Amino acid sequence: MMQTRKDALRILPLGGLGEIGMNLLLYGIDDHFFVCDCGVQFCDPWMVGAEHRLPDLDLLLEYKDLIRAIILTHGHEDHIGAVQFVGSLLKVPVYAPPFAAEIIRLKEEEYGSHIVRDLLKTKDKDVVNIGKMQIRFLRVTHSIPDTFALVIETPFGTIVHTSDFKMDDDPYDGVGFDYDGFKKIGDKGVRLLLSDSTNALVEGHTRTEKDAIEAVGHLIKEAKGRVLVSLFASNVHRVLGIIEKAQAAQKRVAIVGKSIHLYLEAYRRAGYLTAPLDLVDERRIERLDDKELVVICTGSQAEPRSALVRASLQDHENLRIHADDTVILSSRIIPGNEKAIFRMINNLARLGARVFHERVAQVHASGHACRDEERQMIRLLRPKAFIPIHGEYAFMKAHHELASEEGIQDCFLVENGHLIEVTKQGIEVVERMTLNHHYVDGSLVGDAEELRLDERRKMGWHGVVAVWAFVQKKRKRLGARCSIKTIGIPTVEKKMLDELEMHLCDEIEDMPLSVQKKQVEETIEGCIRGFFRRKIDKKPFVLSFVEFEED
Ligand SMILES: [Zn+2]
Repeated sequence: MMQTRKDALRILPLGGLGEIGMNLLLYGIDDHFFVCDCGVQFCDPWMVGAEHRLPDLDLLLEYKDLIRAIILTHGHEDHIGAVQFVGSLLKVPVYAPPFAAEIIRLKEEEYGSHIVRDLLKTKDKDVVNIGKMQIRFLRVTHSIPDTFALVIETPFGTIVHTSDFKMDDDPYDGVGFDYDGFKKIGDKGVRLLLSDSTNALVEGHTRTEKDAIEAVGHLIKEAKGRVLVSLFASNVHRVLGIIEKAQAAQKRVAIVGKSIHLYLEAYRRAGYLTAPLDLVDERRIERLDDKELVVICTGSQAEPRSALVRASLQDHENLRIHADDTVILSSRIIPGNEKAIFRMINNLARLGARVFHERVAQVHASGHACRDEERQMIRLLRPKAFIPIHGEYAFMKAHHELASEEGIQDCFLVENGHLIEVTKQGIEVVERMTLNHHYVDGSLVGDAEELRLDERRKMGWHGVVAVWAFVQKKRKRLGARCSIKTIGIPTVEKKMLDELEMHLCDEIEDMPLSVQKKQVEETIEGCIRGFFRRKIDKKPFVLSFVEFEED
C-alpha cells in the first residue's frame, strides 16, 4: 500500500513500461489520485484460456478510496480497453476525449451493459482538478483522432505526460500538434517529462499520415483490378483518406469488418463526420466490376476471424480473392504477428493477389514519434527530469540515453510497479512492487492462478488420464479391476491402454490388505505418470476414482 507520509507527488506505473500495451499509470498527491489510461494487452496464442491481459486489479482495489477519476488520453485499446473492468471496480468519473468516449459507449452497446456511469468528454485545453493537481489536455497527433498529452500542474512543479504521440505537421483533419502550447509550458518550466518510447530505436521523423494515404491512393489509381486495403480499424483518418482517394479514382468503396464500422460510427457520433459516406454494401461486392471497386477491410494483423484472413482461406461469405486483386496491408507488421501475417500473404498470393505491405512499399505511417520527434519534444519542454514510458525495455533505455544526450541531468529508467516520489528536493523510486496481472477469458476475469492458466496450458500439452479402480479386499490379498480413459493424449492405442490397465491392477493387488484409498490413488498416479513418461515423454493430469468393493 502506498505510504502518504510525506509531501510528494506519487507516480506508480502499473502497465506499459517495459512492454507495449496495457498502459496505466497512477498519479496522486496525499489522498487524491487519478488513473491515467486504462489499457489491455492481447495475449499470446500459447496462453490458453486468456484473451486479454489487464493491469493488477487487486492493487487498484487497494487504492480504491484514494482514486478520484480515470483520465484517458485517446481511444486505442491499449489505453482504454480495460476501462470497463477498472471502471466497474473504482466507480469514479471517467474523462475521455469525445472519440474515445464514443468508442466506450458503442462497445457498451455491443455488450449490452452500461458500465461507465459518469463519462465526461474532454476537449483541447480542458482542465480537470484532482486535489492539488490541475490536469490540462494538450493536443498531439497520433494514429487515432483526438489524442492528448496531459499537463499536470502540481505544487512540486509541472509534469508532462505525452501519452502516445507523433509530430504530424500535415494531419488529415488539419488539427495539428500544439507546438505553441508545448513551447509555452517549456518556457514556464517543466519539472518532469514522461514521454512515448515506442519508436526510440528508429532514427529520423515519422512519415505523415497523408504520405501513407497518398501511397495507398497511388496504388489504387494504378491498379487494373480490384484493390483491397487492410488497416487498423481505429485509424479513422486513414479510412476516410482512402475512401477519398478511391472516389477520386472513380471507384466505389465497400467496408468489410465490424470494427471499421464501429470506429466510423464513433467518429460520427463524436461530431467529426457529418456527410454520409457513399459506400457499397458488402453483400454487393461480387456484383461490381473488379476495376470499379476498393474494399477496406480488417485483418492487417492476420487476426483469425478477420475479413482478410477469412477471404485468404476462401471462407468469407461476401469477400473472395480474385486473380489480379491488389492487396495492401496499410499497417505495421507487429513482430509477434509476423508468422500469421506472412501465412496470410502466402495464401493471398496463391489465390493470385499481389500484396503490398510496409516492408515493400511506403503504405504505412507509424503513430509514434521517432528519435527526431522525441528529441524535439525534449527541446520544446526542456524538463529538469525525464522518465521514458510506453515501450519495451530496450526502447525505454534508448530513449533514456537520448534524453541524457540532450543534457537532462535526472533521467530515470523505471518499470511497472516502481513507485516514484517527486518532492521539492528531488525525484526517487521509493518502492518496487511485484504486480499480479489479471486476465480476461470470455466473461471471466482473474489472475493467472484464479483462472488456472498454468494448469490449462499443461493440460493442453500433456493431456488427461482418468482411472476408475475397483478394489476388493479378499481374505489374503487385494483384487482389482481398472478402467482407463484419456483426453488429449496422442498415439494412445487400445493395446497400450489394456497393457496399462493390467499393470495397474498388478500394482494395486501387490499392496497390503490394510491399504487406504489415498495410498491407492497415489500409486495409480505414480504408475500412470511413469508409464506415459516412458512411452511418449508426457506428464498427463491424472484423475483417479477409487472404490472399495465388498468381496
Ligand atoms: Zn495510441
